[in-house]
Amino acid sequence: MLGRKERGQLELFITGSLRQLVPGDHILARVDRVLDLSWLHDEVADLYCTDNGRPGIDPEVAVRLMLAGLLLGIVHDRKLMREAQVNLAIRWFIGYGLHEALPDHSSLTRIRQRWGAERFRRIFERTVRACVAAKIAAGEIVHVDASLIRADVSWESLAVRHVEAVSRANSGADEEAVKRGRQSGRYKKVCLTDPDATMATNGRNRRLEPAYKQHAVVDDVRGVVLDVEVTTGEVNEGQVILERLDAAAATTGKAITTATADAGYAYGKVYGGLERRGIDPVIPAKAEPIKSPVPLRRFRYDARHDIAKCPRGKVLRPGRQIKHGRFFHSRARDCSRCSMASLCLSKGRLNKAIVISDDHPALLRARRRRERWSEEDQRLYRRHRWRSEGFHGEAKTWHGLARAVRRGLQNMRIQAFLTATVVNLKRLAVALLRLLCRLQGALQRLGCPRGVDAIAHSRGLHFAA
Ligand code: SF4
Repeated sequence: MLGRKERGQLELFITGSLRQLVPGDHILARVDRVLDLSWLHDEVADLYCTDNGRPGIDPEVAVRLMLAGLLLGIVHDRKLMREAQVNLAIRWFIGYGLHEALPDHSSLTRIRQRWGAERFRRIFERTVRACVAAKIAAGEIVHVDASLIRADVSWESLAVRHVEAVSRANSGADEEAVKRGRQSGRYKKVCLTDPDATMATNGRNRRLEPAYKQHAVVDDVRGVVLDVEVTTGEVNEGQVILERLDAAAATTGKAITTATADAGYAYGKVYGGLERRGIDPVIPAKAEPIKSPVPLRRFRYDARHDIAKCPRGKVLRPGRQIKHGRFFHSRARDCSRCSMASLCLSKGRLNKAIVISDDHPALLRARRRRERWSEEDQRLYRRHRWRSEGFHGEAKTWHGLARAVRRGLQNMRIQAFLTATVVNLKRLAVALLRLLCRLQGALQRLGCPRGVDAIAHSRGLHFAA
């Protein structure tokens, strides 16, 4: 028989919780089982007046709203609040009934401004500690990678810096001065609407874009994000890896034994820093770039005697210290009689000067090791690709991190912390689901009086770290 549904009927009563209307396998229902933000009131209490003013939006509601938006891929506040009006799952997740008026979208903006990025970092760090307690993150083998995030600005907002504009206006300007300025970086483009974003590219053939850079440390066991930080786009990966690893170790309370990264981190200071921390680096060392007919790799550094030797076996002795290394000089008398002098020496020079970086021995060790990587090194490097790059892909594809939602470094950091929080909560939810599946059969066979939820909680599978 052909059915017909009457539309427009009034609901007189709705009894029970909205939870009954949300499917058990809905992402918000699964995450809610591992999410406990009851500690949050104490965390932000110092930011609110205790005896004056209108009661603000509940902090837990605000964070749950932000998390729900990112879990569902809704990154803009206005769109999120429009969706929350009609989405039962979001209403239930934030604890609002069907007829309750939702907060205004601007409340979320004000909360982000009031709390600052560090409060959101603490929320993220709680998820890391919860994952360690639940034994889905060991904090020993980690993968490090960085990814560019396109800033939320238009191409029209880009302008060259003032110096170049003035030079162009005075079209008779000294060409040499313009060239020097270009080399020193004074002529870079800047972004007028978001000055924190800087021009960067992640490929030789790709164009420069205004961007931020997210640096992430991902655990090897289940891909839990142990640390995340955002810098402007032009910051080099090698400058931040050591402090990010230190931060990850401090959060987990575990000593990192092995760190993998791609060739963008293959610098002597990175290898040296990792060796000093007792961390085994699995980073493919790059061959030395050949810029001269007699490249630096043909000079041998003797760490024992602190000298270098040139291809002709002449000694170069240490000289002036610079930022990351020292000059080594040959004697003019040796070079004057050398048949390679025309190739080896720069024009007008009587002797050879090279710079040996402070961690040059560590770089040489890494280059030698790269030539004979073990099966284990290769296996770890393969895991690096799908663990760390997998996290960046997941964050960008499913949680809106492909493009900055708001402007300014602090807003970008908040977006990154919340996205990493969401990813860790998903890992916790999956771990809980696996545990429940394993326990379900056992409980039925044993007739255990305890519920599966109680057992899961006793195993640390709960967000309240
Ligand atoms: S020019 Fe001087 S530094 Fe270069 S190979 Fe000859 S002796 Fe050595």
